[in-house]
Amino acid sequence: MKIYKFGGASVKDAAGVRNVCKIVAGESDTLVIVVSAMGKTTNAFERIVNARWEGRHDDAVIEYDKIRAYHRQIADELGLTDLFNNGITSQDIIDGAIVPANYDEFYDQVVCMGELFSSKILSAYLSKCGIANEWLNMPQLLITDSTFREAKVDYDESAKRIRNRIFNSRSKVFVVQGFIAGTIEGYHTTLGREGSDYTAALMANFLDAESVTIWKDVPGILNADPRIVDDTVLIPELSYREAVELAYSGAQVIHPKSIRPVENKKIPLFVKPFGNPAATGSIICETERKVDVPVYIWRKNQLLITMRAKDFSFILEDSLSHIFDIIKRHRLKVSLIQSSAVTISVCVDKTRYVTNAIAELSEAYVVTYNENLSLLTIRGTTPEILRKEQEGRSIMLTQKTRRTARLVIKDE
Ligand code: ASP
Ligand code: MG
Repeated sequence: MKIYKFGGASVKDAAGVRNVCKIVAGESDTLVIVVSAMGKTTNAFERIVNARWEGRHDDAVIEYDKIRAYHRQIADELGLTDLFNNGITSQDIIDGAIVPANYDEFYDQVVCMGELFSSKILSAYLSKCGIANEWLNMPQLLITDSTFREAKVDYDESAKRIRNRIFNSRSKVFVVQGFIAGTIEGYHTTLGREGSDYTAALMANFLDAESVTIWKDVPGILNADPRIVDDTVLIPELSYREAVELAYSGAQVIHPKSIRPVENKKIPLFVKPFGNPAATGSIICETERKVDVPVYIWRKNQLLITMRAKDFSFILEDSLSHIFDIIKRHRLKVSLIQSSAVTISVCVDKTRYVTNAIAELSEAYVVTYNENLSLLTIRGTTPEILRKEQEGRSIMLTQKTRRTARLVIKDE
């Protein structure tokens, strides 16, 4: 059994869905296909959530009509008009029949529709092309707690349900939604933005798959973001350890949470271009091979928060666990930590939780912060490379180990 994961870019239009069908048709093994929402649909659903939350109901309806028109057009082009008329509705949430009480909970009930739409369309199209398949509803199979927007997976319960469902089926192809899951009580949850890779890795773990393939719009794992740098090179093979470091630093090619489930069972994970399925791409596996080119990873939209004790006490001894407790409760994502005798600075992703966290931290500490920052991590750096990257930039903080440099840079 293999796991194939197709991201939003691979199914952003009818041609994309046809291409997925072609790739799937070439596989003779049992296949679990994990699919993300089409194109930028999740962002569009986020706009709906915000509009409803802020009481702009008309905006929500307009946005939803756009999403429907977009999916309808893809369905039409694929000859699936009927499916769209009968199979896909979710009007209550959008129209206001359901009143949002808690932002995160409401978010998950709405945003999950993106993956439900895309997976229904893909499944129907595969059937139409003669590829028999079974569509599975992940919110009933992948079970989580109710940490909405970042739900924690119940491994045992999920593994039990998923194995039961798939091993007892005669189907050879399964179509499932990435990113979305559900609680025992039947609420929808999500695993965090870009979480479909994580779903794919979990499926591989639960089903003891032979491999996972993440089909992307890039040739594989590159040593820098091709949207920022022209002359990137492909990294053909890297260890789980290296992969998790890159993902944590902000490499968007793969979600950081997706490494552990495959590493735990030593399942190889391929990253391949959906535009050129025959290409070898990259493989993440158990290997001693070291990455032999410098790797540049940008993590954008960072905030540097510095805390100092009000009574000038030593921050490390007295306050560290208190500070991190607050950070954890407010779900801040820490990308870098730096300490001195009386201060500690953390770099975090700028999310909607930051304001409340800073307010709580300010009760106990003198807090200052800087916005509009990026974190550049260079793995395999040399003094020359570091000098070049620092040149002409406004650097707030530099951290260096023997082979890795991390720069917090003020955005231009
Ligand atoms: N559709 C979700 C997102 O855009 C999940 C994913 O793409 O992996 O974040
Ligand atoms: Mg995506």
